Amino acid sequence: MTAEKRQKPVRNLILILGDQLNLDNPALEGFDATQDCILMVECAGEAAHVWSHKARIVLFLSAMRHFYDCLATQYPCGLQGIYSRYLKLGEHEFDSLKAAWAKHIDALKPQKVIICEPGEYRLEQDLIALCQEKSVQLVIRDDTHFMCSKADFKHWASDGKSGSKKELRMEFFYRQMRQKFNVLMDGKNPVGGVWNYDAENRKTFGKLGPQNVPKAPKVNIDAVTQQVIDLVEQLFPNHPGSLSHFIWPVTRMQALKFLDDFIANKLAGFGVHQDAMWQENDAKISPYLWHSLLATSLNLKLLNPREVIAAAVLAYKKNQLPLASVEGFIRQILGWREFIRGVYWLDMPQMANGNHYQHTRQLPRWYWSADTHMNCMKQTIKQTMQHGYAHHIQRLMVTGMFGILAEINPREVEAWYLAVYVDAVEWVELPNVAGMALYANGGRFTSKPYVASGAYIKRMSNYCSNCRYKPELKTGTLACPTTTLYWNFLIKHYATFARNPRTALMVKNVQRFSAEEVAAIQAQSLQLLSKLDDL
Ligand code: FAD
Ligand code: SF4
Repeated sequence: MTAEKRQKPVRNLILILGDQLNLDNPALEGFDATQDCILMVECAGEAAHVWSHKARIVLFLSAMRHFYDCLATQYPCGLQGIYSRYLKLGEHEFDSLKAAWAKHIDALKPQKVIICEPGEYRLEQDLIALCQEKSVQLVIRDDTHFMCSKADFKHWASDGKSGSKKELRMEFFYRQMRQKFNVLMDGKNPVGGVWNYDAENRKTFGKLGPQNVPKAPKVNIDAVTQQVIDLVEQLFPNHPGSLSHFIWPVTRMQALKFLDDFIANKLAGFGVHQDAMWQENDAKISPYLWHSLLATSLNLKLLNPREVIAAAVLAYKKNQLPLASVEGFIRQILGWREFIRGVYWLDMPQMANGNHYQHTRQLPRWYWSADTHMNCMKQTIKQTMQHGYAHHIQRLMVTGMFGILAEINPREVEAWYLAVYVDAVEWVELPNVAGMALYANGGRFTSKPYVASGAYIKRMSNYCSNCRYKPELKTGTLACPTTTLYWNFLIKHYATFARNPRTALMVKNVQRFSAEEVAAIQAQSLQLLSKLDDL
């Protein structure tokens, strides 16, 4: 039966987005299958809004289809019978979510449209505007998946304990969250006596490389996922990325399996080598190292952060796991993830326009192909295209850092990140890229730009030993572009950095350069910047 033929008006039109796949989704509260309609839409416009990695599209569509099937078993009469509908890609005419919503509001004439807070500012604005235009009441319910509501974050950010009102610091937020949720606490004090074991989480793999890296868990590609894979290959053949390594959980059961696997096999080793990187010459070494691979499941809401934290704490208590690893992991979820979401909603929409350094260069073409001589970039991008995955330091200190040093337009870098990572959703991608990697928001929540020379990459990986460039060289044909552009960046911003006690140390070495050295670095940088595509 089509929406147009329906006689009885619907009470509530309940919208569920592709990253809201939790059965306790607040939009479903009070759902009555006999009078409410659930609407889920697969939309080409969303898949192609940025030039998405094929694995990202498959992940979202397959997880959505599985979720709708799961809902159908909860509410069989409502979903299979009367009102609710799931619109599959290629089987409907809507090229945007807004168009699909508009048509259904017109056809069903609901008294209310109900949705859980979307994860993207643009979608929320679209929906607000649409409901105003259609004169229908819109109810946006708080997203209880998160442990800190938007309102609580706003309150924290404005109460002066956040660092300062202008600059927000994750560390203060994290401590408050530890206390509030009583996580790794010993009365009022942190277990172990310190809040943060970050300093113990930066070890390299040494000359021997990673040892005994656990294998990544596997999920079965079932008929639903296979259908989606075929559809994506058919509809988006030119999109970047490969589907031959698709390992991502698309159901809650699979996500729980990933969580169990991480806790049992990886959590103990998570902290020590969290920042280290390694070129995957040996196919036996998992490219995911000791990382959890939980971001996709958390972001799609197949997992709840509370259960992830509880599982880590339980393993710490039961199995005496190293506190530095457990704290390091919990800091990412309870600290960074919640903080980043809070900042996104606090600072949108201006965050999406920030360009502190007024950088305007185009993203080099090889960000899509990995066809570059810079081995750190080649390896990180190659891995990204194969798996839709790179870990935090690869994102921050390789592809992200090059973006700021090469003066690339933040909008181009942001679009790339949103496109290529399987876990990319705007509320988490944008603050990480604009705020952390590119300093495009002028240090709203980082005390200084994350920049370093090739020496950092050499220390943290084996990339440089397989590279035509030399990380220690600033100028000359073998000079590492990251190193040259790093010094160029410090020279260019010398005056500002020297004035600020937080950045003064960074530029101290520049004082030791002769005028000739400075000129040579600047000249070589100009040359590099004019031919980024050729690096
Ligand atoms: P692990 O390394 O095992 O970490 C555990 C969990 O902590 C992650 O699953 C994630 O949920 C959370 N986490 C860790 N760091 C962060 C952070 N900085 N912000 C928010 N959550 C964090 N994460 C995304 O989920 N989506 C993105 O689009 C995304 N884009 C990023 C872009 C840049 C430039 C940077 C520097 C980081 C980005 N991150 C993003 C954060 C982080 O890199 C990924 O969450 C992580 O690499 C995912 O892999 P994992 O699940 O194995 O995480
Ligand atoms: Fe990257 Fe420079 Fe090292 Fe090459 S030498 S891998 S470009 S940091």
